Amino acid sequence: MTPTLQQALDRIDDRVDDLVELTRDLIRFPTINPPGEAYQPCAEFIGKRLAKKGFDIEYVRATGAPGDSDHYPRVNVIARREGSRPGPCVHFNGHIDVVEVGSGWTVPPFDGLVRDGRVYGRGACDMKGGLASAIIAVEALIEAEPDYPGTIEISGTVDEESGGFGGVAYLAGKGWFSAPRVNHVIIPEPLNVDRVCIGHRGVWWAEIETRGRMAHGSMPFLGDSAIRHMAAVLERFERELYPMLAARHSDMPVVPDGARQSTLNINSLHGGQGEEHEGLPAPCVADSCRMIIDRRFLIEESLAQVKAEVTDILDDLAKSRPGFQFDIREMFAVEPSISDRNGAVATTTAAAILEVLAVEPAIVCSPGTYDQKHVDRIGKLKDCIAYGPGQLDLAHQPDEWVGIDDMISAAKVMALTTSRLLRRTA
Ligand SMILES: [Zn+2]
Repeated sequence: MTPTLQQALDRIDDRVDDLVELTRDLIRFPTINPPGEAYQPCAEFIGKRLAKKGFDIEYVRATGAPGDSDHYPRVNVIARREGSRPGPCVHFNGHIDVVEVGSGWTVPPFDGLVRDGRVYGRGACDMKGGLASAIIAVEALIEAEPDYPGTIEISGTVDEESGGFGGVAYLAGKGWFSAPRVNHVIIPEPLNVDRVCIGHRGVWWAEIETRGRMAHGSMPFLGDSAIRHMAAVLERFERELYPMLAARHSDMPVVPDGARQSTLNINSLHGGQGEEHEGLPAPCVADSCRMIIDRRFLIEESLAQVKAEVTDILDDLAKSRPGFQFDIREMFAVEPSISDRNGAVATTTAAAILEVLAVEPAIVCSPGTYDQKHVDRIGKLKDCIAYGPGQLDLAHQPDEWVGIDDMISAAKVMALTTSRLLRRTA
């Protein structure tokens, strides 16, 4: 390691208080999505900080994106700082949105409580701690190596938790995530500090509705229950689909182990009258039953096959089960994405992990999707990974936290990686 690089890493150690305060400041913006609360002040906070360090700041509102309104504007921030001479561009992309709070918290979700070497709060691990680590890493590097070649970019983007359409997808569509503007992308999602994440599984969300005919609940034989029709769907899923999916294993190194197969979650199931009535419900046969499914699939499967496995069961029931009628509506589809494990950003990050942490890095894929898909599919930029502090299992949970030591380690790995990538000749 060069003396200036060592200096950059030492500076990160000296800045632990700054790193913790920055993480807490970010957590204090309650950027809950949906609806997309406090995006603009959070983006401006990041922009103002980086402007003081010599970055050019641009704010891009995703006008017309899902959920964008004057009350909830989808505001993204992109900071860019060019070095002393031409070279590649390294980009850190962190989403600033967080999921709803939910129940079960024993600490305040938006105070940024610090206790026992951890910072607590909604978004602490997913992924404000990661974004703070990237900012500290880059600031320390710029001070230690002010004459760096190439360009450093940091973006804070919105809506990742709802698909990224107002964030990275929107920006990628306008050229912000493509060469030659950007060459290497690191997304500090909480994949653990000693792992390099090279991609993610695919997603297919669909709503299935079965239909029936209303009748008096005392004479159900005069109607036709949509709920019983849905039960027939579920029975086929249990008998045929679940065993088939469980038997499929991927060569993608997905973590945790359980996600190395195809999975299907039933997100919700609603049949018959709503539950919001006052007093007792009226006795009726259900004329509609709706179910939302969340299918996660592997690089070895195609989206067309994934869809056909479900629609074939529904078509078959329509033929074989009297009165069975259905609709299916696709809500969301994402192809799996995987980058080259021998690519520049993956190998450079892995080497930096070994150097900083003295552990052999694991190369993994994420069970869920994240914004890499948009960098890959829309930006056509393949050299993209996720690397950041925080334990994946804690994301979206009550009492979410990120470890301060992990943030320091991740910041060092990021600084080292950035310095080396900037000196690569493409
Ligand atoms: Zn995330």
